[in-house]
Parts: sequence; C-alpha cells; structure tokens
Amino acid sequence: MAGINIEKKIANNVKQAIKEFEAREDIVTHFGEPIISYIDARDQLFDLLFDKNLTEHPKNIYRPGNTVITYFIPYAEEITESNQGGGQISEQWRRASIESAWLSMKINRTIRQTLNIIGRLSSILNTQLDWDEEKRQPAWSHKLSAYVSGMAELGPAGSIHTKAGFGGCCNSVITDGKFTKASEPYDQEELEKIYQQILADCCYEGAQNVSCTKEMIDACPGNAISENGIDRAKCQQYCKTIDEYIPSPDVCGKCFSFK
Ligand code: SF4
Repeated sequence: MAGINIEKKIANNVKQAIKEFEAREDIVTHFGEPIISYIDARDQLFDLLFDKNLTEHPKNIYRPGNTVITYFIPYAEEITESNQGGGQISEQWRRASIESAWLSMKINRTIRQTLNIIGRLSSILNTQLDWDEEKRQPAWSHKLSAYVSGMAELGPAGSIHTKAGFGGCCNSVITDGKFTKASEPYDQEELEKIYQQILADCCYEGAQNVSCTKEMIDACPGNAISENGIDRAKCQQYCKTIDEYIPSPDVCGKCFSFK
C-alpha cells in the first residue's frame, strides 16, 4: 500500500501493544522502550551460525522469508537490579521471564498484523517450547539474530547486551518483505575469527582466551562456571530447576552482568 511507512507503523503498534499488556491486571512486569531491527535473511552471519550449529537458519524455517525482524524490549531497571549478586533468582526476574514469553506472543501477532496491511507474508520463528536439550540451545536463537543485526553484543551464557541493557524480552518474526540490504561479504578468515569471538564473548568452556573472575564464578547458583568458562550442561541442569520446559540461561541470568 503506497504511502505507508511500515517500519514506523510497526514501531508505534509495538509500543501500543506493550502498553496494553502492562495494563492487564495479571501482569506485574514493566518494560522500557523497544528496540527493533531489520536484517536481511541472506546475511552471511546467519550462514556462519547455521554451519557452526549455533542456531537454525531463517531460510530453513520460512523459505520465502527475506527479512528477519528482531526486537528487544528491556525490563524496567529495578527488575534487572533485583537479580544481581549470588543466591536465589529474584522473584521479579522470574516473573519477568514468564511474562516476557506472553508478551512476545502478543508482539509477534502485532507485527504480523501490521505486515498484513501491506500484504506481506510472515511467520514466527519458533514456539516457546523449542528448546533443544541435546544442543543446549533453542532451535532458533532470537538473541543471535539480535547480534547479527548489530543491535546487541554477546555476553556470558549467550546473553545479549543492548544500549538498553541485558535484561529483557527478545524475539523475532520473519517476512517476505524486503526492508534492508545484506551486509558486505566476509572472507573465510574473518568468519572464523567472528565465530571464535562469539564463543569467547559467551564465555563458553573450551573457547579461546576465556577466563572468568571469582565474582562471576561465585555468582552462579548452578556451580556451572569455573575459571575456564561456563559448563553449558551444568548451566542447563540448573536452569531446568527453574523452568522445566525452557531451561535457558535467560531464566537465571545471574552471570549476564559479568561482560
Ligand atoms: S546457571 Fe547458567 S545462567 Fe545462571 S549464572 Fe550459572 S552459567 Fe549463568
């Protein structure tokens, strides 16, 4: 439809959807300003992440998909603050991760309905329950998509760090609409460096040049962190005690601030 600035419309509709969500009587979490990015699904970094088994490829999920729309909606600052330090997960953080899953369903619907106005096909990229316990990661990673878009840097246990912080609701939708161009191609050496840097930024055990501080080791309630990095099996085991179905580091988040 001519004359519609669809990115602006999506931004406005997403803000409105957050307001409506926060106004519900059963919702206690407050959220900040959303960040929304548009990434070409042919970006070479998606190929890299897929080849290295770190996430599904957007084109495998939705073949006609051209653009991945990824968003991050930060938690109110006091929620992230409440979960700092060792010991138990704060009640506010626990509740925020549950409500984030509900919010993301509403936001995904909002984005898809907005794309409908201009006749664009779209699809969500995963369900809430697509955690792969063998790989210890979701089939599709919204957070890696946020990283590819340049909206976020990576941090401990695959956390993302945006200009609005690291605690928040991250999700994505894919559409056949074209909103952006693919980034410049990388050579093989650059791609390998990026891959090694991803592993190091996430502080995964076995990655090159990873060294975790005593404060970070002590902050982990799952005893999953040593000087050599994060043992992802132990991390998942602990996160399963918080959320049996989605044992993602997001439900704990105690190490995220040690970037
Ligand atoms: S259990 Fe996982 S997410 Fe929680 S602090 Fe330890 S490594 Fe980080």
